[in-house]
Amino acid sequence: MTNRWVYGFDQIAEAKQAMGGDWDAVRGLLGGKGANLAEMTRLGIPVPPGFTITAAACNEYLHRHGTFPDGLWDQAIDALRSIEAQTGKTLGDPDRPLLLACRSGAKFSMPGMMDTVLDIGLNDKVVEEMIASTGNAPFVLDSYRRLIQMFGSVVLGVADHYFEAVLSDAREAAGVESDADLDVDALGSIIESFKQVVARRASVPFPTDPIEQLRMSVAAVFDSWDGKRARDYRRAADIPEDLGTAVNIVTMVFGNTGETSATGVAMSRNATTGEPHLEGDFLINAQGEDVVAGIRPTRPIQELADEMPELHRQFAETAQQLELHYRDMQDMEFTIEDGTLWLLQTRNGKRTAQAAVRIAVDLANEGLISQEEAVRRISPEQVELFLHPRFNPAVIASASPITTGLNVSPGAATGVAALDPDLAERWANEGRDVILVRPETKPDDVHGMLAAQGILTSSGGRTSHAALVARQFGRPAVVGATDLDIDVASRTVSCGNWSITEGEWISIDGTSGEVYPGQIERIEADLDDPHLTELLSWADSISEMTVRANADNGSDAEQAARFGATGIGLCRTEHMFFQSDRLPIVQRMITASNVTERDQAIASLLPFQRADFAELFRAMDGLPVIIRLLDPPLHEFLPDRDELLRTISDLQIRLLRASGLDEVEHLLTDLAAANTLLDQVNSHRESNPMLGTRGVRLGLTIPEITAMQVRAIFEAAADVMGEGVEVRPEVMVPLVSDVEEFIRQRVIIQAVAKEVNDRRGVDLPTVVGTMIEVPRAALTAHDIAEYADFFSFGTNDLTQTTFGMSRDDAEAGFLVDYVASGIFTRNPFATLDAKGVGRLIEITLEAGRSVKPDLQAGICGEHGGDPESIALARSLGVTYVSCSPYRIPVARLACAHAELALTSSVD
Ligand code: PEP
Ligand code: MG
Repeated sequence: MTNRWVYGFDQIAEAKQAMGGDWDAVRGLLGGKGANLAEMTRLGIPVPPGFTITAAACNEYLHRHGTFPDGLWDQAIDALRSIEAQTGKTLGDPDRPLLLACRSGAKFSMPGMMDTVLDIGLNDKVVEEMIASTGNAPFVLDSYRRLIQMFGSVVLGVADHYFEAVLSDAREAAGVESDADLDVDALGSIIESFKQVVARRASVPFPTDPIEQLRMSVAAVFDSWDGKRARDYRRAADIPEDLGTAVNIVTMVFGNTGETSATGVAMSRNATTGEPHLEGDFLINAQGEDVVAGIRPTRPIQELADEMPELHRQFAETAQQLELHYRDMQDMEFTIEDGTLWLLQTRNGKRTAQAAVRIAVDLANEGLISQEEAVRRISPEQVELFLHPRFNPAVIASASPITTGLNVSPGAATGVAALDPDLAERWANEGRDVILVRPETKPDDVHGMLAAQGILTSSGGRTSHAALVARQFGRPAVVGATDLDIDVASRTVSCGNWSITEGEWISIDGTSGEVYPGQIERIEADLDDPHLTELLSWADSISEMTVRANADNGSDAEQAARFGATGIGLCRTEHMFFQSDRLPIVQRMITASNVTERDQAIASLLPFQRADFAELFRAMDGLPVIIRLLDPPLHEFLPDRDELLRTISDLQIRLLRASGLDEVEHLLTDLAAANTLLDQVNSHRESNPMLGTRGVRLGLTIPEITAMQVRAIFEAAADVMGEGVEVRPEVMVPLVSDVEEFIRQRVIIQAVAKEVNDRRGVDLPTVVGTMIEVPRAALTAHDIAEYADFFSFGTNDLTQTTFGMSRDDAEAGFLVDYVASGIFTRNPFATLDAKGVGRLIEITLEAGRSVKPDLQAGICGEHGGDPESIALARSLGVTYVSCSPYRIPVARLACAHAELALTSSVD
């Protein structure tokens, strides 16, 4: 028995049965477009009769190097006969000609990446009879010229510009702007010229037999799965190579028969903002790809209500029906043929991150999906895209835009203008920020669009190729900026009396649609979008893990609180020491020649630290604030040794050349000071400072620093408590490897805390935890847990110490090659290594909780903001993650996803 390669649109039940009722598998078999056309047919939505040749047939065809699999063509002819029976028309019959479209349709939509041939079935004879029977010569001839052009370029491989040149000459000769305005004579001669183009440029003649046209078109669509642009797109969109494309053979319906016909593309909700109303473009008297190609200026779908109110109503109702059925925003193609509405496609619409969030929240609030489903539908990457930077409003206030186009993909982008995709890619590879500026984009331009920071076109609508691709990949885009003159030949862009040459700066705001001259400063997004706030609150209610912030100043802490942090998981106090007003005091502390001098310096740091900590407590009113004691090796606070040596040798040279006594005296003083400093730097020099006197070892070597920091923490807490703020300080000891280190630090911490509590008459609990950053701490966690109130995995150091590799050296050196050559599958400093570091975390938690069952344990390395690491952390039993304030929204969603993944794997 031969395989089944073909399903009619009215045979969805059979396809579902063949796939065991699995809709995802049906989409794999029939492609997204084919499955939805058949499903719409079942729902009673008007779809022109047709059939689908399966993606499996495509794979088989490619596998056999271009031979149809056994049985395929016979089944296709049977399905064709069935359409002929339904329509009462016959392919190739001049009296009642059936015309067909041959459209690609893979499981995941790849807009414009693969090929389509329309108007199959026309030849000279059919055309002649059709003109006679319809009395509409312009329509028939226009359809014929489209067939020759599409077939010529898609199937016979003739470059499209040969056809476009004929068309533009004809428009010029006739003095018209649009192809739709060409008269019958002009169309007749275009057809003749097109035939000559094919005869001259193609290796085989244009087939006059409609069946042969159909067969060759199917083969060409199969072949287009393997085309370069489709492969580029799949790589960028992470679509597997082995899916293949299905082919849909659909009865042609015509939007170009005259003023009672139209064609359009629309989304059931706004794909840019997510607002719940129809959004799209249409054209009266147009066919097929005219709307998406951006060649003729389109009209907004709302105007269809004025032109054809009944059809607009029907379409709006269908859109709603489809949303209800698919429980998602739909992207639909329709054609109106002489007053009858036909749906040619529906699919879940691509959307910006902003729209995705709003739509998911609205659908849940409308009761179409659950809150959990809404959370599931948004990816952490989308939340990240939400955080697109915008232009600095202060700069924008005084800047005036050159022009405004359609705001199709939000975010602000600035870069040098590149007028072709290859150049955009090259410049981007050289590290330049690029804006791809094109009259319009085509599927062949995708590599340049992906390389660019933003995309700007002078033509095209909201559903144009440029808009779709930009939205999908989160590139800010402005399209249809019709005032712009983009001259690809002279490599210039102009608008009125403004102009630039390729390579000069330009800025676009995809949120407002404005285009600005020059380079404009950008600032981070702020996150008060009400839909995102709602979605993240749903995420929080799903999550077991909580998200804290890594923050070490008041403004970061306030930002973190606004983004929903449940506390501070890591305050790196060394960042406070590096500030310019403190660094000299810190240096005095390190270089002090006696204990009194050192203690004075340490005492001078106290008020600074107290003020720093007070800011954190105020921002985190009622939430825990973990403050880590000083961690880095002290040499980091001293001048760079190599620089110091250069200064000394410079002073020595100047001394040799000095003439005046004054000058000599000055230089000698400077030299003595520099040499003293060098001695001090040398005395703090270590061979491997990151494995040297740092972390808890520093706190044990100079316990006065620990005492000062703890005093500052508790005094600040007492002060802020007096202001009515609820304070929850927690002290964290870094880089512990042996419990004895921890015990000794804890003694100091407790003594100071008690002293402050007693003196200030308060009763602040002394919570002291440890970082787990070295394997020995992990392996002896049962000992440490006896004394530590909490654990926090410093996964940056834990990764370094587990792998025995320094992050700075690895990332600047061999790590790239390691990943490229597959020694490592990924950078372990970006995504937590499950087998090694993850295993140590597991051991730590098991051991720690055998002593303290309720032990809280977080992650405060950079992995705390990485969704994949968050999922691993959750599966290991980590209780919170801590990350930089701007990662908090992403981490909150990732925590919910981690929970959902965990519960679904348990079910
Ligand atoms: C860590 O090591 O993961 C950590 C948070 O500490 P730092 O990055 O400051 O060394
Ligand atoms: Mg560390």
